[in-house]
Amino acid sequence: MSETVHDVVIVGSGVAGQSAAVYAARADLSPLVLTGDEPGGQLTLTTDVENYLGFPDGVGGHELVQRGREQAERFGASFRQASVASADLDDRPFELSLSTGETLSARSLVLATGASARTLGVPGEDELMGYGLSTCATCDGAFHRGHDVIVVGGGDAAMEEALFLTKFADSVTIVHRREELRASEILARRAREHDAIEFRWNAELAAIHGAREEGVTGATIVSHPDGHPTRRRADGESVETERLDVQGVFYGIGHEPNTAFLAETGIAVDDRGYVVTDSETTETTVDGVFAAGDVADDRYQQAITAAGTGAQAALDAERRLDERSVAAEDDRRIVA
Ligand code: NAP
Repeated sequence: MSETVHDVVIVGSGVAGQSAAVYAARADLSPLVLTGDEPGGQLTLTTDVENYLGFPDGVGGHELVQRGREQAERFGASFRQASVASADLDDRPFELSLSTGETLSARSLVLATGASARTLGVPGEDELMGYGLSTCATCDGAFHRGHDVIVVGGGDAAMEEALFLTKFADSVTIVHRREELRASEILARRAREHDAIEFRWNAELAAIHGAREEGVTGATIVSHPDGHPTRRRADGESVETERLDVQGVFYGIGHEPNTAFLAETGIAVDDRGYVVTDSETTETTVDGVFAAGDVADDRYQQAITAAGTGAQAALDAERRLDERSVAAEDDRRIVA
């Protein structure tokens, strides 16, 4: 067991974790932020953030998280590059086993581990991930200058990826399993009106072709006029199959919350894996553990809402620590 007991350990360093760190640090709780496998979180995979309040001309994702970290450090938060392998939340203080082999003790925890890109499991995916297949246009778009590429998905992320890819690719085909977009009207309109973007409606990716040495050389898509062709094919309906000559494939099909390390901790997650919190606070089903950002939010998933819930989690943690120290003080008085 480690000797130092931290008042607040924040797991994850995206905007939710950073915002919790600013609030906890300003409350003199010297929070420790474990940065996780993706320091800075999903914003580091974004170019311009246009809807974060206070930046009328937009702000780069990297810049925003860099500033957030500096702000938290200025008030006394510390950051450590590690993720949590497992957690023992049965006793107080909590015990965390880190990926580095260390253990940490904490009186309260803020879970801000966010969510990671969803994948499809189609043939070719494992081999070609990072070799022409990507979940991040911002990271890998520049490799596709002069290429034809596809983007899978119909939400905001897919539209943003497609629009970004037009800076490099000759053509971008958005493959969406229905004929109605989930994306917000503004992004959907920009994509629809873009000359270099075309849509394949009611279509899904069935396989990615190529090899690591040569990258992606094509993709097979299936389609059905009523949508969801993969499901229909599995049910025995006939679907149309088409091979597209593309050199890049991008997934923009949403994210899965990062909660694997919470197995057997008593923290309840819903049927999609998102951490369940109290209806009025950020408290999880374990007393003293709070959750913020995308790991507990399957509805809004915005940088600004993640920052907001990060602040709430720190305030909730502070209040719980205060209540406990008042209770401990009362106990001491009774004994005396
Ligand atoms: P999302 O809104 O959940 O959209 C995921 C898209 O992928 C949906 O169109 C979905 O199809 C499709 N999809 C999911 N699983 C699939 C599968 N197995 N096969 C084929 N298609 C599949 O996720 P997101 O686009 O990542 O956005 C998440 C949140 O972040 C949203 O709240 C979004 O508004 C926000 N966001 C905002 C911005 C921005 O404002 N600039 C940018 C990015 C994200 P269906 O529509 O049929 O379900």
